[in-house]
Amino acid sequence: MAEKLKCNACFAHSKKDIRIEERELVYTSNDIVVKVEAGGICGSDIHYYQEGHAGLSVLKHPMVIGHEFVGKIYKAPIDSKLKVGQKVAINPSQPCNKCDFCLAGKQNECPNMRFMGSAQFNPHVHGGFSEYVVVSEEQCFPYDSSISPQIMAFSEPTTVAIHAINVAGSLVGKKVLVMGAGPIGGLIIAAAKASGAVEIIASDISERCQKIALEMGAHKAISPLDKEIFNEFSKDKGYFDVTFEACGAAAAIESTVAVTRANGIVVQVGMGASPVQYPVAQMLAKELTWKGSFRFIDEFGIAVKWLEQGLIDPRPLISSEYRYQDVEQALITATDKNISSKVIVTFFE
Ligand SMILES: [Zn+2]
Ligand SMILES: [Zn+2]
Repeated sequence: MAEKLKCNACFAHSKKDIRIEERELVYTSNDIVVKVEAGGICGSDIHYYQEGHAGLSVLKHPMVIGHEFVGKIYKAPIDSKLKVGQKVAINPSQPCNKCDFCLAGKQNECPNMRFMGSAQFNPHVHGGFSEYVVVSEEQCFPYDSSISPQIMAFSEPTTVAIHAINVAGSLVGKKVLVMGAGPIGGLIIAAAKASGAVEIIASDISERCQKIALEMGAHKAISPLDKEIFNEFSKDKGYFDVTFEACGAAAAIESTVAVTRANGIVVQVGMGASPVQYPVAQMLAKELTWKGSFRFIDEFGIAVKWLEQGLIDPRPLISSEYRYQDVEQALITATDKNISSKVIVTFFE
């Protein structure tokens, strides 16, 4: 039998139009209802608010934003392993588990993927910036209640970082460069350290982000504008075994080829918007591998454990916190990269 629950949520209507509105959730006794506690604002949320679309996903009707969020179990089926009141991180990805990619264990390539807070399909899939959400049991990852929801709100971007490490392969004993020290770059730094890299250098134009990179575990933070350092790293067929490009700027992508060692790996995590003058001749002469990394596969549970154990401490990345009623101000603040890394939105009473 269907039950109903009214609650408030953050609906993106169109460009620069976000509203707190009441919604009615309909669920059955087989569903999991989660009372949301906190969430993180991600690039796509900012794009929906500032531009009315995120890449090719265009808002066609009001959509609840947010795909990085955690909460408490409010209702669970009697035979569920989940208990009311238990704290859970929510995996926002809902692959079809039927297509060739899903069956091959590559759910991040699922063409039928229903990702929460994404306008890719019409009707859109509502996100987690809502007082309550209905999810499936498989999406719920219980976590230790001594960990703050603000920390566990990093479970989704941490999963993205761990997936990027898995794309690179073993980092044990490797020299690593992370280009771009925003939230994803910062989490890649911490994940690379946890994965055995012996030298991690971060590159970011912003001094604020360089400082955060050091707090996240980088041994050194440099500016991409420092030509001298980059020339040094480019000598003798390059320096880094693995380069993570988490910035997406054309100049950054182009520079990966010079600084990565012959036979090394470049993992592309940053979404580049502009066309790139890629140094093909140098890339082939060095036999580099350029690999894309997109979302994640089965790394969500690992991210929850690493955050729980403190193997990754995301706190240096938290730049401010807002109540969901102030989500518009939170989005405006998150857009300003001079002051913001990860902006947290809370749903506490
Ligand atoms: Zn995200
Ligand atoms: Zn699929």
